[in-house]
Amino acid sequence: MTERLTETDKRVDSLTGAESVMVPTRQVRPNLPDSGCPFCPGGLETPRDYRTLAIPNRWPAMPDDRCEVLLYTSVHNKAFWQLGTSQVLHVVDLWTDRSRVLGARPDVDYVLIFENRGRLSGTTIDHPHGQLYALAETPAEPLNELVNGYMPSPPPDLIVSEDRNWQAWVPEAAKWPFELLIATNDGSRRLSDAGMDRVGLANILVDCLARLDQVFDQPMPYMMWIHQRPFTDEAFAPMPLHIHIAGMLRSAHTQRFMAAAEVGGGLYFNTVDPALAARKLSDLAGHR
Ligand SMILES: [Zn+2]
Ligand SMILES: [Zn+2]
Repeated sequence: MTERLTETDKRVDSLTGAESVMVPTRQVRPNLPDSGCPFCPGGLETPRDYRTLAIPNRWPAMPDDRCEVLLYTSVHNKAFWQLGTSQVLHVVDLWTDRSRVLGARPDVDYVLIFENRGRLSGTTIDHPHGQLYALAETPAEPLNELVNGYMPSPPPDLIVSEDRNWQAWVPEAAKWPFELLIATNDGSRRLSDAGMDRVGLANILVDCLARLDQVFDQPMPYMMWIHQRPFTDEAFAPMPLHIHIAGMLRSAHTQRFMAAAEVGGGLYFNTVDPALAARKLSDLAGHR
């Protein structure tokens, strides 16, 4: 029986002000249940077939139903882009619905949706899925962008893909070898904003993630996270809804590690020139 989390043990580093959450309960979570994949229909978490599904995280990092697993499909062996635009539209709708529902809670300020893909990124279950954290406060990374008045404006030579109201490009100061920023120019700040171009978002996600898998002709391990506006109405600059993707391989056989100088210095050393990464990614076939 698992120990139930009753409160968030969030601590602030007295040296830096950085926040850490202590989650010893997650230390004992199994890599994979003995009964096989828990997310396949008939599995531990999903007795019936489904199109997409949000379920509570059995090993939450926080109490109060703030952690959800977002299942993208009932089919086990599929890359995100292989779902195709029609199924990815259902995924976008799942992200949007759960974001709206959790964002409406009075004890939720920020909804962070993210995905870890591949063992290198630390995922323990291969079945296509993302996660959601409904946070009481806006965390440091998006808060920093909001305070800085972050407004993406891609240099033309770094653009990788465009679709309707969305653009994808390699950030000029990328930290990761094959990093992408995908942002909308339709005025949306949150997934749930009326008029958010969900078709353009589905198309560009399918295309970009296909390109990442084509770079080294193998599944690219990545971290992906969605940045949207907090659910409080503080007066931040109008940051557009956007998605970060950090592709983690720098060659076919070499992963990029965050090394001591980077962790210790807060200064990042990326061995792949963003202009070259952008050219390589945009020259690939992608997927439409
Ligand atoms: Zn499965
Ligand atoms: Zn961001």
